[in-house]
Amino acid sequence: MELLRNVDLAPFTSIRIGGKASFFASVRDPEALRDLIFFAREKDLPLFVLGGGSNTVFGDVEGLVLNLRPMKRLKVVEAKGGLRIEAGAGVPLREIVSLALREKLKGFYRLSGFPATMGGAVTMNAGAFGVEVADFLETVTFMDWEGKIHRVGREELDFGYRRSPFPGSGVVLSCELFLERGDTEAQAVFEDLRRKRNSTQPLRLPTSGSTFKNPPGAYAGKLLEEVGMKGYRIGGVAFSEVHANFLVNCGGGSLGEVLRIVEEAKRRVREEFGIELEEEVRLVEGRCSDGWKVL
Ligand SMILES: Cc1cc2nc3c(=O)[nH]c(=O)nc-3n(C[C@H](O)[C@H](O)[C@H](O)COP(=O)(O)OP(=O)(O)OC[C@H]3O[C@@H](n4cnc5c(N)ncnc54)[C@H](O)[C@@H]3O)c2cc1C
Repeated sequence: MELLRNVDLAPFTSIRIGGKASFFASVRDPEALRDLIFFAREKDLPLFVLGGGSNTVFGDVEGLVLNLRPMKRLKVVEAKGGLRIEAGAGVPLREIVSLALREKLKGFYRLSGFPATMGGAVTMNAGAFGVEVADFLETVTFMDWEGKIHRVGREELDFGYRRSPFPGSGVVLSCELFLERGDTEAQAVFEDLRRKRNSTQPLRLPTSGSTFKNPPGAYAGKLLEEVGMKGYRIGGVAFSEVHANFLVNCGGGSLGEVLRIVEEAKRRVREEFGIELEEEVRLVEGRCSDGWKVL
């Protein structure tokens, strides 16, 4: 295992913002992951598991960032009525989306348009246009924080709106999906959804996707628009002119600016509507983040 020091994190995120990680390692197999978990425990380092970095903004982090992207094993087998797909945590979501389109598999192609890994998509239970990753899951294989590997059926895992038991329960190593055949309209619906996405989301500037979860019965983007946050800018960071819930990096943005703009948005929505917005994006700095596993 190669352990790196003082690694720039911005290139590992879709919003291209980041300080440095005091420790950083790319994980290729479960044995290396186990060694790294034990190393972190010995050194009292918090751990952050990184997938595609499309839902993450970093500052300077005092801990060990584990890059799961090299875990790219993909196995596809024919099953009754569809395909069974076993995907390593680092497999790009878009690879499965392309496969689903090619093979006219139902529903999964709706999850197109974001640069996630399968590990991150399972962890966030990513969703779009009426489907979410958990709808297609059969099993998840993960390593717990003691280094033990578990393979667990979907029905035993508690998924919710942009919520899963991970990384709390451990690191997702791979997942098994079943995608049903028979969507003859797949390509046409996909093109339609792509047009919708392209006209409602920022395409030209680096972004971390939705900043806040939708509160029950409301849309975060609409609330933000109503309190004047659309296009609101602090330094190099702004809420997009195209989609008020998407933060964009206009150039030279920092986590400090992200934290300030997030606080301002929360304050305005709280004061105007009495609603407490909850971050969907992971904000990671020092030894703090809701994505950290503190060992
Ligand atoms: C342009 C754009 C559009 C987007 N549109 C959508 C959308 O329509 N719907 C949607 O749901 N999201 C959307 N997102 C957000 C984002 O793509 C998803 O949340 C995605 O699931 C994050 O995956 P990732 O691999 O990039 O995760 P990361 O950002 O790397 O990590 C996210 C969280 O998952 C944890 N994690 C990552 N991998 C693992 C693992 N193997 N084991 C345990 N924990 C892990 C991290 O610690 C972190 O807490 C969008 C983002 C962008 C940039």
